[in-house]
Amino acid sequence: MSDALSRRQIQVSGLVQGVGFRPFVYRIATDLGLAGSVWNNASGVVIEVQGDAAVIDSFLGRLRSETPPLARILSVTIENRDAIGNDAAFRIVESRKGEAVHTLISPDVTVCDDCLREMFSPQDRRHRYPFINCTNCGPRFTIVRGIPYDRPSTSMATFPMCPACQAEYDDPLSRRFHAQPNACWQCGPRLELWTNDGRLIAEHDPIAHTIDLLRAGHIVAIKGIGGFHLAADALNTSSVELLRTRKHRVEKPFALMVPDVETARGFCHVSAAESDALQSRQRPIVLLRRNQNCALPGAIAPRNHDLGIFLPYTPVHALLFREGRFKALVMTSGNASEEPIAIANEEARERLATLADFFLVHNRDILLRCDDSVVRVTGCNLQHLRRSRGFVPSPVQLHKAVPAILAVGGELKNTICLAQDRQAFLSQHIGDLENLAAYGFFLEAIDHLKEILEIDPGIVAYDLHPNYFSTRWALKQDGRTLIGVQHHHAHIAGCMAENHLDGTVIGFALDGTGYGPDGNIWGGEVLIAGYASFSRVAHLEYIPMPGGAAAIREPWRMAVSFLHQTFGPDFRKMPLPLFDQIGSAKIDLATRMLERRINAPLTSSCGRLFDAVASLAGIRQQVNYEGQAAIELEMAAVGIDDASAYPFDLTLSGDCFLIGTRSLFHALVADIHAAVPAEMISARFHNGLADVLVRTAQLLRQRTGLHQVCLSGGAFHNVRLLLQLSQRLQVEGFSVFIHHMVPAGDGGLSLGQAMVAAHRHLS
Ligand SMILES: [Zn+2]
Ligand SMILES: [Zn+2]
Repeated sequence: MSDALSRRQIQVSGLVQGVGFRPFVYRIATDLGLAGSVWNNASGVVIEVQGDAAVIDSFLGRLRSETPPLARILSVTIENRDAIGNDAAFRIVESRKGEAVHTLISPDVTVCDDCLREMFSPQDRRHRYPFINCTNCGPRFTIVRGIPYDRPSTSMATFPMCPACQAEYDDPLSRRFHAQPNACWQCGPRLELWTNDGRLIAEHDPIAHTIDLLRAGHIVAIKGIGGFHLAADALNTSSVELLRTRKHRVEKPFALMVPDVETARGFCHVSAAESDALQSRQRPIVLLRRNQNCALPGAIAPRNHDLGIFLPYTPVHALLFREGRFKALVMTSGNASEEPIAIANEEARERLATLADFFLVHNRDILLRCDDSVVRVTGCNLQHLRRSRGFVPSPVQLHKAVPAILAVGGELKNTICLAQDRQAFLSQHIGDLENLAAYGFFLEAIDHLKEILEIDPGIVAYDLHPNYFSTRWALKQDGRTLIGVQHHHAHIAGCMAENHLDGTVIGFALDGTGYGPDGNIWGGEVLIAGYASFSRVAHLEYIPMPGGAAAIREPWRMAVSFLHQTFGPDFRKMPLPLFDQIGSAKIDLATRMLERRINAPLTSSCGRLFDAVASLAGIRQQVNYEGQAAIELEMAAVGIDDASAYPFDLTLSGDCFLIGTRSLFHALVADIHAAVPAEMISARFHNGLADVLVRTAQLLRQRTGLHQVCLSGGAFHNVRLLLQLSQRLQVEGFSVFIHHMVPAGDGGLSLGQAMVAAHRHLS
């Protein structure tokens, strides 16, 4: 052995187990003629390499540049070792048992091109095998029961591998080396087709049969990765309408699966960035702008300019599209409205029997439900609307370490967050906790996440709303430090955390509802905020909500309230189309509530302001899903470039700026009298709101010298508002920070709660 031999020990941490990392190391080491070994340890993967120093350098370069698709390297530390004289070969060493393994579990990812090629190749032993997978693809998060991540702790434990699969599993050079879900026709899971009363349809080719059923207009419940979908031929209007009726889903859009980006272009405009998002490994539902001459039935997404489109991501989807030649399938979550997605075969058959005619099921258990993720590309940014399958459990990297914390989120669109050290793990989308089944899922998600991440939180963070189910659960966690976090503070702290900000920022937290410490319903808030504390420096002026929660379901009530506030009792004398539409009895009742202040809680909600404008513009008087009026108001202005803006009033009250709407409603009512169309009203409203928020930011900068602005809250799912406000703030010299890793809405709330709790605990 020559003196020139070097030996280095390399510790790699991150997402490096269960993703083909050791075989990858083996391949490049043997390729470069290096000796040594590789094994898993508690913090990831350890490599020892021996050879010429320059060759080791190129090994380190390739470690970074050729990382396997699912792996994510967070850190690499290198130490020199003494060369070992007789070390000539490179080996993969079995992981030592009993060592506490703290490593990341991969999200579920789309079937890879190599597996698809094999599946469609008649010579391959997995030809048409609907559960084909390899180290680079397939289910992960949803089939893991616990750690360490290997076959016995997954739902593949009940499928002993056949000799051929076992040989691949044991071969470091195989794409299936240690691929835990590895399976084939001989040894793996199988599909079955059932009627909705549970009879097995005697049929040896369930895929072909399912294709026939879908073509004939039937609705088929299809078991996937994170739960069941209800599938229907999207070009068959009566199937789509039947599904809508059965799901009791009046107007909420259905997601569409299409075979490829080309087909998506036939329905929607697809930019390069959107095409990338569609084809990404996570395969989220991407919201795309519908083409004007789009040939799809209106019932797919009524009154919406956008369609939620995604590409096939399981072998079953790929078979259905390739062999069925569908242009598009509706693929909506297999649940009754607002319930969690169904995952177990029997559970699905009970819950979905009235929704689906047939069931395409399989015998690999889904251990954890996980809905499809929903994203939108805004400019060059990916915006998460629902962060779930494909993204979870990838952590949000924090710039500072935090103690072990569980944050339980809000009430609607709930997610939870477990944070420790420099990582925050958000759960998949759980849903609306007022639904009992969703609450059960919430409990399940907490247990499962604690189990697979091995985090035992000493701190529990929760929303201040005393009646949220998440809050009530948190308050029962004896023996832990309980920290309540104001809703809008959590929004801003979450945005700061994603962007690795410190210190204090100007935070715009705009949404529908959040509990205010003064007992009112907040939602149009401007905060000067750091992680540990905040002060409320501006907000939308309070307005009563006649009928309380009914005012959320019926936007016309908010219109009446703003009219009453702006014009006084005489507002009824104005000739407004709204009054005829709603009828005087209802208007009278709402007015009496306002005058006597009965059942009329005060709110500064931005969402309720959008509702009132949507109502007056004649767009919507009743909503069928959360945020519908605001979404349709935004949609109305699509393509409108009107530059004029409604005025808002900005006044100082004590230390706090009040954003008033009297001037706004004077101008808006004048436009209604002048028969200005709804789309112009919408554009002028958006312009005006952006104006007043920019002015507010300028005043706050004068007072405080702060120039960093965070935008958070569900209102920033409104692309027009987000783009207008962030562009105008940038023109004025502000640094603007938005969400790009978690939703701006309540789906991202738990991240901010965890951050606030961490800093309160430390201070
Ligand atoms: Zn694969
Ligand atoms: Zn096999």
